[in-house]
Amino acid sequence: MVTIADRIARLGTETAFAVSNEANTFAAQGNKVYPFHLGDLNLATPSTVVEGSWKALQEGKTGYCPNAGIPQLREALAADVSASHRVGYGPENVAAQPGGKPTIGKFILALMNPGDEVLYPNPGYPIYESQIEFNGGIAVPYGYVEGEDNFGLDFDSIERGITSKTRLLILNDLQNPTGAECFPGEHERLADLVRRHDLYVLTDEAYFDMRYEGTSRSFVEQPGMAERTVILYTFSKKFAMTGWRLGASIGPKPIIDVIAKINVNDESCSNHFIQYGAVAGLVGDQTEVKAILATLQERRDVLAEGLNSIAGVRTYVPNATFYLYPNVTEAMANLGMGDYEEFRRAVLHNTGVSFTSRLHFGRAQPAESEKYVRFAYSGIDTDEINEGLAKLKAFLES
Ligand code: PLP
Repeated sequence: MVTIADRIARLGTETAFAVSNEANTFAAQGNKVYPFHLGDLNLATPSTVVEGSWKALQEGKTGYCPNAGIPQLREALAADVSASHRVGYGPENVAAQPGGKPTIGKFILALMNPGDEVLYPNPGYPIYESQIEFNGGIAVPYGYVEGEDNFGLDFDSIERGITSKTRLLILNDLQNPTGAECFPGEHERLADLVRRHDLYVLTDEAYFDMRYEGTSRSFVEQPGMAERTVILYTFSKKFAMTGWRLGASIGPKPIIDVIAKINVNDESCSNHFIQYGAVAGLVGDQTEVKAILATLQERRDVLAEGLNSIAGVRTYVPNATFYLYPNVTEAMANLGMGDYEEFRRAVLHNTGVSFTSRLHFGRAQPAESEKYVRFAYSGIDTDEINEGLAKLKAFLES
């Protein structure tokens, strides 16, 4: 009998992968599956990145490299993010990571003491809750309020959640799973709270560049916030590189130095030759990056229109991310179902349409009465979206 350390009981997981396994098993039994469950892309990584990585590989960039990333990547990312965020970052503000996800745990390790409280979005990316609790902190959820054409931050729950023990705030703007982005004024209001309560902020910007119109604005633009905020940056989504594993932590030098020290202890360095590919992706021709966005936008429009045509389902159409978060309260009631997993499985087994639900994005809060599911359209082509939607509509309206 192996005795596992007590702290592992506090470690959460990403249950969306379990949904993916279930869908794969269903498909292996000869069933057609329409995969809306994972935020992965079925689109090719731009050739700039592939060729840049390949060249570096051929040149023998296969040994260890600096713990915080090669200087060329740190410089290119600092320049890129400074321009898009209207903030003056230098290479010393950037630490490369094997993906965006490691920034979450490292930010928490660097700044949170056991017993500290951390505000985090719920529904939200489940790794926040997992890493806060695993590292001995107290995870304090805040929510979103569904509006006509967006989800807004629930400032009541944020303000209610702040105590003398609150140390960190996690913001995910543009958000998974809701697709929400902060309204004008929300950043100002948050920055005011951060100043008043002396908090540090993680702004998870995994989807910052995944937008179809307009310009993303970062929380770090707020006066004084760049000094107390770490950005989670990732190549995963913008460059369709989920499996390559490259991202970065970007923020104040004293925090980035600590994160680089954690890198030494964890993985030594991020993949060496891929960092050259990433530089080529950042500074090279952006045609293929734009094509990824154009494809996603087309999928979004088809999916949103189809979902909104189904009785009992309504979704707003976010301008960013590659998720829709429809309200399915009525559709579930029409089937006589109140349980998320029962609904999800019934839809999978009757139609092949596979999605995640509110349950996969943090512990549901007691006061929640509306029901939501998440559709990711990053891994499914338009024809399949249409086919899946037709089956879904027939089932939900039957
Ligand atoms: N943050 C959010 C909100 C995400 O949705 C994801 C991935 O789905 C990540 C971070 C981590 O992405 P990665 O580690 O692939 O960069």
